[in-house]
Formats: sequence, structure tokens, C-alpha cells
Amino acid sequence: MYKVLNNIKLSQNFHIKEFVCKEGKGEVLIAEGLIEKLQALRNYLNRPIIITSGYRSPAYNKKIKGSPKSQHIHGRAVDIKVPGVAAEDVGRASIKLGFKGIGIYDTFTHLDIRENLVNKVGRNYDYWDMRTGK
Ligand SMILES: [Zn+2]
Repeated sequence: MYKVLNNIKLSQNFHIKEFVCKEGKGEVLIAEGLIEKLQALRNYLNRPIIITSGYRSPAYNKKIKGSPKSQHIHGRAVDIKVPGVAAEDVGRASIKLGFKGIGIYDTFTHLDIRENLVNKVGRNYDYWDMRTGK
């Protein structure tokens, strides 16, 4: 666990404060490989990526009623918005670039680098679409 004091640049387009828990304690955890994949996605889409949720402390995750098994608790997940890119296209690109959990929601896309897949159909990634009416 680290407390963020300075907004260190982690890659060409991402800074550490974008991943800090929204609880307000400056806490962050970022799993190995997450930044590289996110930067690869940024390069592939060639569009700014807005991170709406990165690391979540267990307490904060509980407070916002996140899943107890949330990948955000382990610093392995981000929720993002990519203005101007359809959710399906963000999803497709994310699969191609090696993300392991891809969830499509009404207002954001969840991406993670989970270590254990939950799908039983032999896919090498988990994918779900939570949008209403789908
Ligand atoms: Zn998420």
C-alpha cells in the first residue's frame, strides 16, 4: 500500500492520482501489468481515456456496495470512459490487448487483469454486458 503525495507519471498518458481510491486517504495499489495494458489501449484507440474508478480500499468498496470479490480492491481494475468510442469497440480492443475481465455498463467500461477466470466456456477472458435492455 502506498500513500500518494506526488502525481507521478506512470506512462506516457497516465498519472498515479488517476488510480487513487476516491475515499480521500490517498491510497493506491496498482497491479503489475495494468498500466502497460491501459497505455496500449490508449495508443490503440488514440483517444484520451478517463478513469472513473481505479483502486478501491476494502472499506470504500463496501461503502459503495461494490462486489466483495471486486478486482478494484486488488488494484487490478479500472472503470473507464472513452469519449467518442462505442463501448463495443472499447471492449473488443481490450480483449485484443490482453485484458482478462471486460464489463460493459451504461456509462463506463470495466477492465481488469484478473488472475482467475469465471467463465465456463473456455474463453481466455471474461466478458459481460450490463446495459439495460441487452
Ligand atoms: Zn469496475
